[in-house]
Amino acid sequence: MKIICIGRNYSEHAEELKNEVPSSPVIFMKPDTALLRKGEPFFYPEFSENIQFEAELVFKINKIGKHIKSKFAGKYFTEFTLGIDFTARDVQEELKTKGLPWEISKAFDQSAAIGNFLQTKDYDLNKIEFSLKKNGEIVQQGNAFKMLFSIEKIIEYTSKFFTLKIGDIIFTGTPKGVGKVEINDHFEGYIFDKKVLDVKIK
Ligand code: MG
Repeated sequence: MKIICIGRNYSEHAEELKNEVPSSPVIFMKPDTALLRKGEPFFYPEFSENIQFEAELVFKINKIGKHIKSKFAGKYFTEFTLGIDFTARDVQEELKTKGLPWEISKAFDQSAAIGNFLQTKDYDLNKIEFSLKKNGEIVQQGNAFKMLFSIEKIIEYTSKFFTLKIGDIIFTGTPKGVGKVEINDHFEGYIFDKKVLDVKIK
């Protein structure tokens, strides 16, 4: 399986990192080794002094497809959750300055935390509220309607380039409010009031 991630999908977050608001989705990927296994702590890596959290809605592909039109994209997933796209911001800033690919700042081991999946049929996908708590306090809040590119548009665009396969995961980008991770932090992710994600930092 592969993990497809979208960057700059909320205009307020693009602004907080002083990035341009994109005219098509910004895509990067993480390998399957980036998955943080359920119940495992996130071990703060040695190569960064500025690991940041990015809370994101995450969809799981359940059907193989290529060149999927957005109006049919809803047939390619049935489950979603909240995830954290852990980012070595110091490393990423250096790579961006040099015009180099982001992989080592974004796709390292444990950089993709994923919560318990919920059924999409139980929700209005355009109005999913989500939030992330750090040590009991809300640090990020988002709503799917604020995404620049909906999950359907993301699937249409992504599948022009990459065949989507069963089990692939799509991170849909983070709203504003990203911030630093410290050792001993405790993160909890919510879809509306339902807790779906729990990650401790070691
Ligand atoms: Mg992200």
